Amino acid sequence: MSTVLELLTLQGLDDEAAALRAALSDVERRIAGDEELMNARRAFAEADDRVNEVRRRQRRLEDEIETLSDKIAREEKRLYDGSVKNPKELSSLQHEVESLKAHRSPFEDELIGVLDEFEREERARKEAARTMAQLEALREAHLVDLRREGRRLNDAILKSDTRREIQKAKIPPRPLAAYEDLRRRKGGMAIAKISAGSCLGCRVSVPDAIRRRALSSNELAQCPNCERILSLG
Ligand SMILES: [Zn+2]
Repeated sequence: MSTVLELLTLQGLDDEAAALRAALSDVERRIAGDEELMNARRAFAEADDRVNEVRRRQRRLEDEIETLSDKIAREEKRLYDGSVKNPKELSSLQHEVESLKAHRSPFEDELIGVLDEFEREERARKEAARTMAQLEALREAHLVDLRREGRRLNDAILKSDTRREIQKAKIPPRPLAAYEDLRRRKGGMAIAKISAGSCLGCRVSVPDAIRRRALSSNELAQCPNCERILSLG
């Protein structure tokens, strides 16, 4: 087989190896982290924070209301147990109880709103927890597949590397070095076919003298425009 055909075979193997390595790095990226699951975990943590914040406000209001209710109960007890007999003192006590109740009333209204809010946030947290659990279960199952796929790709890469080494050994050092240099510089496409007199790497017409050189099996012809190794096959 001519050197250029051996190089073409090598290019095919190099393309295959590059595709396998890209697939493996994609699998590794997916094993390392699942963006959807991370978002769901963050959403749950935020929902949890909101529930705790509403819970704190609820406790503060309940404490406030309890303190006032205790005070009201104490004053009402004095009002009705006959321990205070002076009408002026009784009327002032009555006034005190009313004022305490008036003070307590907005806290009670606020508490009703906070309890509604708590219920809403609690529902949202449950929903977020459910989503997170579903994605976690999905990921568990998915991880098994991803690890299996990672092992398969690693095996395929090992085999492909062996085939490439065998193929490389068939090619003389200078064309091999030229190929590897071009492959690095030309985005993986070191060899271009000639079709209808043009280089398929850059679409520029190839002079006859160079086309003739491409026909000979012991010499490499390169495109004068893009430098790629030209193949007639
Ligand atoms: Zn070219």
